[in-house]
Amino acid sequence: MVKGLSPQEARARLNLIGRFLYDARAIDLWERDTKTLPWIFRRLRRKYRKFAQETIAPLALKSDSDPHQIDVKEIFLKAAREGLETELMPYPIGTGNPIALAKSFLLGPILKAEEFCAACAGIGLALLAHDLGIAPLFISGDPKATFKWMRRIYGEILNGEPAIAAFAITEPEAGSDAEETLGASRARVGCKAQRVKGGWVLNGRKVFISNGRVAKWITLFAALEGEGMESWTCFLLDKSMKGLSVGRSERKMGQRAADATELVLEDVFVPEDRVIGPVRGGWAINRNVLNYSRPVVGAIALGIARGAFERCLEFCHKHRLNDRPLVSYRYVQLELADMLIKIQAMRAMVWQAARYKIPFQTAGSAAKVFCSDMAWEVCNQAMKLMEENGFLHCHGIEKAARDARLTQIYEGTNQINRLAVVEGQLNAEFNIPDFYED
Ligand SMILES: Cc1cc2nc3c(=O)[nH]c(=O)nc-3n(C[C@H](O)[C@H](O)[C@H](O)COP(=O)(O)OP(=O)(O)OC[C@H]3O[C@@H](n4cnc5c(N)ncnc54)[C@H](O)[C@@H]3O)c2cc1C
Repeated sequence: MVKGLSPQEARARLNLIGRFLYDARAIDLWERDTKTLPWIFRRLRRKYRKFAQETIAPLALKSDSDPHQIDVKEIFLKAAREGLETELMPYPIGTGNPIALAKSFLLGPILKAEEFCAACAGIGLALLAHDLGIAPLFISGDPKATFKWMRRIYGEILNGEPAIAAFAITEPEAGSDAEETLGASRARVGCKAQRVKGGWVLNGRKVFISNGRVAKWITLFAALEGEGMESWTCFLLDKSMKGLSVGRSERKMGQRAADATELVLEDVFVPEDRVIGPVRGGWAINRNVLNYSRPVVGAIALGIARGAFERCLEFCHKHRLNDRPLVSYRYVQLELADMLIKIQAMRAMVWQAARYKIPFQTAGSAAKVFCSDMAWEVCNQAMKLMEENGFLHCHGIEKAARDARLTQIYEGTNQINRLAVVEGQLNAEFNIPDFYED
């Protein structure tokens, strides 16, 4: 190469001001992006990465090949000791940083999801689904939910108990229907609540509940007897309740460390003070929880893609083809560049979603759809570069692909989230008068 043409050499010819304005430093993108964050989030991002690398990464492959070999509760307690499972509220209720929470409610969970899931999306999901289970307690705006129940659950965790939470909306007859307006209006609701003296009696089944097996606490949505999803009410259940039992845990394709479990309710008595938010307020709480949680799913996908990229890049340096490292081939460089571009776009998308003071439907769904589709593409690009090695479990690439596929399904399939984008902007942009008619 002609000397003086690389960005670093060319920059050296400029005067001080020119050099100051021309950033050609060799700094990796993780560091560069971290430096754009307010200091409190910089610290958080480094803390999450340290925990992910030290505690989650070493268990990743084992947790995938044999999920029963790892103890999710033990990992949860390790995270809890670092203050990572009580972050949705500041002191004295939890361990969330008040300045960070005031600046952005979403950015912390987004940074956490990327780091945890770059190490292992299965363990990541188990740790993050707890925040999802807690979310209705503060999103409801119900002071009792925050000051009585969050205080109690976070208190247990801070005292060293694995008081894991889960979020239960999905039913055997209602998956997408539990997540979008039109489906909900004709859903056959199976989980019912009947008013009795002093509270409610719940019957029915929930399925595919992340952490359903290990959770102590469950925020669960049920319709009032004789009514549909418009009557959905949020209840806080705990496993000690008579009539609440754990059914089948699914054998899953990806994110295998987190259980997806059926919950069976047979005449479960739920006292009145376990109603979260208003009676019939559950549909609104559920939709808003999804607004908060879908960008986090985008960040889960981002983490999976970044993990796959990093492992693939390392492989391309180590692996030799015709006595040259794979990374020295132009075709390989172009593919790696394309993966990195996608990852940068994903990060931009989820960080943008976190910039809105209050999360909203369009931003959350858009981030979820874009990132989960991109993660699937990036993992497949990594598989393509590594070919037979990508197919081997030991490199973690086929695991990443399987993990990524799930992000296109949960928290509403990507079709449902595309509908949510239209609905979110219905009156502002799309103006489709018969959107709700079939
Ligand atoms: C591993 C895992 C973990 C999960 N964790 C949880 C959890 O913690 N809590 C919880 O409550 N749920 C959880 N879920 C449930 C998850 O959110 C649902 O699986 C998801 O919403 C899809 O529902 P479904 O599988 O019933 O698909 P269905 O609703 O049966 O959809 C089938 C197909 O039809 C499409 N479709 C449906 N309606 C429309 C429409 N109106 N327009 C266009 N296309 C449509 C869908 O996109 C999909 O392709 C989990 C699921 C999995 C797999």
